[in-house]
Amino acid sequence: MPSSTAVSVHPFHDEGRPLSGAEMMRANPYRPWPARITSMTELTATETLFEFRLVDERIREAFRHEPGQFVELSLFGVGEAPISISSSPTKEGFIELCVRRTGRFTERLHQMQCGEIVGIRGPFGRGFPIDTMRGHDVLLVAGGLGIAPLRSLINNIHDERSDFGKVTIIYGSKNPGEVMFRNQFEMWKHRKDFELHLTVDHGDETWDGEVGLVTKPFEHLEIDPANTFGVLCGPPIMYRFVVQEMRKKNIPYDRIYMSFERHMKCGVGKCGHCQVGHQYCCIDGPVFNYWEAKNIQGSM
Ligand SMILES: Cc1cc2nc3c(=O)[nH]c(=O)nc-3n(C[C@H](O)[C@H](O)[C@H](O)COP(=O)(O)OP(=O)(O)OC[C@H]3O[C@@H](n4cnc5c(N)ncnc54)[C@H](O)[C@@H]3O)c2cc1C
Repeated sequence: MPSSTAVSVHPFHDEGRPLSGAEMMRANPYRPWPARITSMTELTATETLFEFRLVDERIREAFRHEPGQFVELSLFGVGEAPISISSSPTKEGFIELCVRRTGRFTERLHQMQCGEIVGIRGPFGRGFPIDTMRGHDVLLVAGGLGIAPLRSLINNIHDERSDFGKVTIIYGSKNPGEVMFRNQFEMWKHRKDFELHLTVDHGDETWDGEVGLVTKPFEHLEIDPANTFGVLCGPPIMYRFVVQEMRKKNIPYDRIYMSFERHMKCGVGKCGHCQVGHQYCCIDGPVFNYWEAKNIQGSM
């Protein structure tokens, strides 16, 4: 696609005025908007952080998201996939997505170059209730690729740090080679306003952090249960055990939030691909509180 992929004909409102960027996005939620890959940072052997800029200035300015929301990313001629937004809403003008190479779509994305054009529609779904969390302590637990959506929340909290109480981050990976955003977290190790626990299941000679499952740091964690929100995202097996640990620390069930991945297509609650019981993961989630998550079959 040529680099001048801007919207050339400006659609008009019934009243005759041009549509704003937000109205254009709302008018057709199925329309992918052209976005340029502006940077690619290899994080691990299988994960890359992509930065995208929406080509149309009005769409770029109107694009606002909450931490925990996702976009539908299209590669023209290949397909479309839901991917969590990994950048903080406090950073405007670009969107970062952290993508693991797993199959045809993600393989093709990893082969692309800076400057190439993709399609983005969204943001979709319900994110983490960051405004409700303000004024409280937050305990964030990420396992593996679960750091992708949690990074948006972590960086948002970082940028508005005085709005939150104690912030504890536990991030577990299988081995040191799979730790993403290692530079950022290495720097944060020395900060007094974040309590950070990096764990790996299997250490090596390069690793001086904790070795054990992501639940291990709970053994010596000091939590004020009356004032803490628990947030988690990771592989399905992790949820039950992390929730158990949060409960042992007396964090109330209704202050525990988690993000789920379900196979989904439309992103707007129409196609039914992600329906579980009476809920649609794409519009009722992907973030659910404990009670809602309990109703999602097989997830807890
Ligand atoms: C709300 C949401 C947010 C997501 N966020 C991210 C993200 O931030 N980074 C990222 O790398 N991936 C994310 N995914 C998963 C991503 O959509 C899939 O990895 C992608 O669609 C795989 O496409 P593929 O053609 O490369 O692989 P395929 O060949 O289609 O599948 C490869 C593997 O991925 C699994 N998979 C395929 N589609 C999905 C899906 N929709 N959800 C979960 N697993 C899937 C398959 O079961 C298979 O095991 C997210 C999924 C959802 C639903």
